[in-house]
Amino acid sequence: MQGLFAEESLSCRAARVLVDGLNDMVLDYAIPPGMDGVTRGSRVEVPLRGRGATGTVLCLVPPEAQWGGSLRPLRRLVNEEPVVSPVLMDLAEWASRYYAVPVEQMIRCIVPEPVRQERHEEKTRKIAVLTNWPDDDKLNKINSRAPRQAHILRYLHRTTEKRAPLADLGGTAALNPCRALEKQGFVRIEEENVHRDPAGEETFAQSEPLQLNDEQELVLKAVLTATDAGDSKPMLLQGVTGSGKTEVYLQAAQHAMEQGKGVLILVPEISLTPQTMARFKSRFAEHQGSVAILHSAMSDGERFDEWHSIRRGKARIAIGPRSALFAPVQNLGLIIVDEEHDGSYKQENSPRYHGRDLAVLRARMEGAAILLGSATPSLESLQNARIGKYTLLRMDKRADGQHLPLTRVLDMRTEAKDKRNLGILSERLRMAIEDRLRKQQQVILLLNRRGFARALQCPDCGHVAHCEHCALPMTYHATENRLVCHLCGFRAVVPLCCPECSSNNILLEGYGTQKVEAVLRRCFPQARLQRVDADVTTRKNALRDILNDFRAGKTDILLGTQMIAKGLDFPRVTLVGVLNADLGLNIPDPRAAERTFQLLTQVAGRAGRGELDGEVIVQTYSPQSCAIQFARRHDTDGFAENELGLRRQFDFPPFCHMAVLTVRSPQEEMARFSLETLHKRLMSKLPPQVQVSDPLPAPIARAYGQFRYQCTFKAPSARIIADIVSAEIAAMQFGDEIIATLDIDAYSFM
Ligand code: ADP
Ligand code: ZN
Ligand code: ZN
Repeated sequence: MQGLFAEESLSCRAARVLVDGLNDMVLDYAIPPGMDGVTRGSRVEVPLRGRGATGTVLCLVPPEAQWGGSLRPLRRLVNEEPVVSPVLMDLAEWASRYYAVPVEQMIRCIVPEPVRQERHEEKTRKIAVLTNWPDDDKLNKINSRAPRQAHILRYLHRTTEKRAPLADLGGTAALNPCRALEKQGFVRIEEENVHRDPAGEETFAQSEPLQLNDEQELVLKAVLTATDAGDSKPMLLQGVTGSGKTEVYLQAAQHAMEQGKGVLILVPEISLTPQTMARFKSRFAEHQGSVAILHSAMSDGERFDEWHSIRRGKARIAIGPRSALFAPVQNLGLIIVDEEHDGSYKQENSPRYHGRDLAVLRARMEGAAILLGSATPSLESLQNARIGKYTLLRMDKRADGQHLPLTRVLDMRTEAKDKRNLGILSERLRMAIEDRLRKQQQVILLLNRRGFARALQCPDCGHVAHCEHCALPMTYHATENRLVCHLCGFRAVVPLCCPECSSNNILLEGYGTQKVEAVLRRCFPQARLQRVDADVTTRKNALRDILNDFRAGKTDILLGTQMIAKGLDFPRVTLVGVLNADLGLNIPDPRAAERTFQLLTQVAGRAGRGELDGEVIVQTYSPQSCAIQFARRHDTDGFAENELGLRRQFDFPPFCHMAVLTVRSPQEEMARFSLETLHKRLMSKLPPQVQVSDPLPAPIARAYGQFRYQCTFKAPSARIIADIVSAEIAAMQFGDEIIATLDIDAYSFM
């Protein structure tokens, strides 16, 4: 009777469902009897157009809001527990409005595909357990009748735990004999869950907390106080490279965990930061399974298991890049954003959210403390600290007592006149490398570029080989002897003569890591040299292995792209050479100087981390630039002061919000006309405090076979831009030929 009553009261409620894949279509469904678990954030199956569909419950609708009794019922509740927590639902809805993207796109970020599809059932394996050991007589009988069964019995008897996975007993071939043994009462077959661990093969030795120095102690105290109080005012930790930030993170995480709270640690793209991950795995090695790693290179199965392990509260600490900010950490007490200035926190395709900014919001929603750490904080965060929105914490001393390295800036315009100069390698840098090799110390060389050489250029007419689809210079790759477009992947053969003027002098201009590698091998034939770039590290764990070899002293020189600039800690590196510091300075982007400063400071932090003093040599064609001069003096405050002045003068972020509207089409005329029309309409709709640029071809005017036109906005708040521009895009009702995208708080202006 009681059951019947409950069913009646439930059947007059309805669930408002965001149906998957239907552009934020929302439909109401009745909650049928027996589905009491349905709530905001539940994943459900619904009837739709004679078929089924899945969706996420946005909210429950009270009875009086229903349309009569005609609602169709939900088909099924996919998971008993709601998959998306109330806070993450709030975060999704907030981000959807702020970044002007469908809520569904945000929910897709929160619930990883394998979890959403429920496709990856938990992986189990069969185990044979010995329950009864037959006497000799019986065993002999089994042996003569079914030798395989006897073999399995003996094998199990020899194991210490009297059990073994079927896989060890001959796989599927062992199933029937085991079943027969089960019937006779000697063996029991059990199912066991297998956790697919992305760090599976690796073992981590437990590391002990270090005795903190005074600066670290103060910072840790502030973080613990905030964690205990649930104070979510962001703390910005500006700590020079080597000041021991990671040690503070580890101890803060440990404290939160001891208080029964969960911890979320965001790091730049994780394949670039294997050391940070390893340090967390080691520190918490004794708490098996307490640290979950999330990253893009994981298999669906691994992602499924790690997600559920966090969701169930087994893993208390989740580490991952940008998207990990949505990890379902239980009872979240602390969020740490390492290298908070890093560009990889901004997602460059839809939804174009900023991981650090959403982390700050999540902390506020959950009442968790949040610590943003960097040696070179973003100007956004520094400005927030100046106006008191963030609390500034500092660590100005290196924890290992070392000096910051001495930095020399070499003007390549004058160096180039030196006859002994090898183009990309100045004589002074060459001598410095030779000196370290002689002393058996290690060298890191940074070249922020990929491929053998940048572009193919004709010295007679200046013709440069461009991608047919993207209008960008193509890059020569020696291994396959092809020109490759790094934007779309288009490949072309290398022409024998110039397509413009037929000159035979056409040659490779610029330098890539492969070409520098060739120069270095000629220069230092005895040195053990390892190149690190995206081409070398495509294999899983390749970067980790290379870095382990370098750490073990099996390599003398590490030559690489910006991926070696981050967070690495090698005590025997005493020289860092930056081969071309100008790269990235001369692009149309308000953050170009900031990025160059950050890269140079980061890479300089790799030198002299052990007992030995470090030296940094920076080769540049623009030695006078602020980014290079302030980086030379390790003067983060000076740079920030100067750059913030410029940003304020030109009204750039953080003094305004900037957004980029891009319209793409395979037809150039359509792209141009559509943006011009949209622009005209916006000019009459947007309030005067929004500045709008002219509609123009984008710096990358053509990509993936589409023409790109864009205009940029500046406004005191992002919301005015998002609301008005997205409404106007929707009102235009563009066909399939035209794609309009809006990037709020844009980091890329190409
Ligand atoms: P950051 O993350 O700020 O670059 P790390 O945490 O990597 O700095 O620390 C730099 C080095 O100093 C590491 O080798 C680390 O083990 C060491 N270190 C950190 N804190 C201490 C401390 N309190 N005492 C001694 N060594 C420390
Ligand atoms: Zn030519
Ligand atoms: Zn291309």
